[in-house]
Amino acid sequence: MKKLFLVCILSFLICRITTGQTQIIAHRGFWKTEGSAENSIAALVKADSIGCYGSEFDVWMTKDEKLIVNHDPVIYGKSIQQTSARRITRTKLSNKERIPTLEQYLLKGKELKTKLILELKAHSSPKRETLAVEKIIEMVKSMELEDRMEYISFSLHAIKEFIRLVPKDTPVFYLNGDLSPKELKEIGCAGADYHFNIYKKNPEWITECRQLGLKTNVWTVNKANDMKWLIDRKVDFITTNEPLVLQQVLK
Ligand code: MG
Repeated sequence: MKKLFLVCILSFLICRITTGQTQIIAHRGFWKTEGSAENSIAALVKADSIGCYGSEFDVWMTKDEKLIVNHDPVIYGKSIQQTSARRITRTKLSNKERIPTLEQYLLKGKELKTKLILELKAHSSPKRETLAVEKIIEMVKSMELEDRMEYISFSLHAIKEFIRLVPKDTPVFYLNGDLSPKELKEIGCAGADYHFNIYKKNPEWITECRQLGLKTNVWTVNKANDMKWLIDRKVDFITTNEPLVLQQVLK
């Protein structure tokens, strides 16, 4: 009986060690490499090719209510929300790829293994955010990608809409840093996805999240020393522009 108890404890500890390692999320894909660019399909493929747990990307809805992948709200003086998708997707990224539609992006993602960490940008009205969330969820469902998705946003409205509409247990993380772990739990978030400085100011939030069964993600951490500080505190995910540096630090 005593032996069995010891075996159980040992298995539990091994499980904690092997599953407890901080995971890497490539911020806007792995773009700091040849032939890549932020939020390009190439960056998604490259993040997958180096074994990242996930690849983050940004989504906007155009004037004609199409979803596209880009970070900035304005492209060459044109607001994405006030411009048609046809015009936006004519624009080329620095690697000569055209700005991808969400559909094109997810189609490539379907061929890969990396998790698709979709950030919905804060839009001009709650109504537009709700519509964008509905369209995203519908597209993901039709492409059978539901178990590959995680959703993030700075907009609390968008977060609540994702939580309301995604299949149960789909991870949804809030980015803005102004809610405590307890408040995140209450609204149904999977955890905190906060800026590095927020955790520096509130290091106890990492432990509190763990105690509440919430995950911790941190952005955007590019220096080895900062990565070490966070890994020592056992955060679940680090979002970085330097996935190769993080791989080295984790070794
Ligand atoms: Mg982003």
